[in-house]
Amino acid sequence: MNPLPIVNLSTSTQPAAQTLCSTNKSHDPFAGPLVDSFGRVHTDLRISVTDRCNIRCFYCMPAENVQFRPRSEILTFEELTRFVRVAARLGVNKLRLTGGEPLVRRGLARFVEQVAQVPGIDDIALTTNAILLAEQAAELKAAGVRRLNISLDALNAATFERISRRTGFEKILDGIFAAQRVEFEKIKLNTVAIRGITEPEIIPLGKFALEHGFELRFIEFMPLDAEGNWDNDQVLRGAEIRELLEREFGPLEPLPVENPHQPATDYRFVRGSGVIGFINPVTQPFCSDCNRLRLTAEGQIRNCLFSIAEWDARQLLRGTGSDEDLARLIRDCVTNKKAGHGINSEEFLKPSRAMYQIGG
Ligand code: SAM
Ligand code: SF4
Repeated sequence: MNPLPIVNLSTSTQPAAQTLCSTNKSHDPFAGPLVDSFGRVHTDLRISVTDRCNIRCFYCMPAENVQFRPRSEILTFEELTRFVRVAARLGVNKLRLTGGEPLVRRGLARFVEQVAQVPGIDDIALTTNAILLAEQAAELKAAGVRRLNISLDALNAATFERISRRTGFEKILDGIFAAQRVEFEKIKLNTVAIRGITEPEIIPLGKFALEHGFELRFIEFMPLDAEGNWDNDQVLRGAEIRELLEREFGPLEPLPVENPHQPATDYRFVRGSGVIGFINPVTQPFCSDCNRLRLTAEGQIRNCLFSIAEWDARQLLRGTGSDEDLARLIRDCVTNKKAGHGINSEEFLKPSRAMYQIGG
């Protein structure tokens, strides 16, 4: 099957990665690591299982009238599992399930069970807003989810509602504590850092995380909101948050880097325990260590959150594409990965997709 299917999402005249590297059909597509042209080996796959969500965070989705993909376009769990098998043969060993809100997709735990059995997959993590977590935590843990990232932007209902434009704050706390009771290997709380909103939440969130033994991470607001309102001035920089935390809790010292591919820089409090991480994609891009690949809910492979081009896996999965064709497509996507997202460069183009349509 040649040429490999690629979709250029650019709405501008900037040339995207339209030229496919010539893929040699006689070459075994499964031979060798999944390495890009900058030497980054890709072992981490983020799968969006749905573009649907039960809330409407302003930094991610429109408030109303969201155009969701028709269900027929969303990959089935069988298609996703096949994709994971192929990716695992290419060296992917870590999966993160995301969305949209992954817990709104029915049967998620059964899917986790399926992919947990794929040879080579040794870590499955999930990112969730926790609204449905109290009901699902135990079955997800039993199915094979080892680690959770839970989004928690505020510790009061009013700020949560301002951000998410929906109610449900109490359910999030219920979900967090339910997850703690079933003892996932790790639970991290993620806060999107937005100037003018997050400042009063920083100390309460720090106290909450310390008191309950969670790691807390602040993620700089990225230009992936659906309404196109992102502005550099709204990015509350990790360095500023660190300063505020140190004023309240005393000095923070950097922790040794456990995994060079982790996007967060982690610190611990010198006085007492507790880990706080900063993911600073805007002020301190970490692209040079990126080992991530993404699959959107409707089967498009992306090599970056900010990618303009996509590689169409669904066409292969639903057509006559072989596993070798799929492996070539994945390799091609990785080969064409750029050095960095370039958010701070003049040529930066915001992708036409918002975060919920990619999978964060
Ligand atoms: N619905 C789940 C959740 O919110 O945890 C999973 C999907 S969500 C798109 C994944 C992560 O992306 C969340 O931690 C969310 O806060 C983060 N996120 C969404 N839009 C963002 C943006 N514009 N900048 C930074 N982080 C963002
Ligand atoms: Fe939904 Fe997560 Fe996006 Fe918020 S960040 S709207 S919870 S997908």
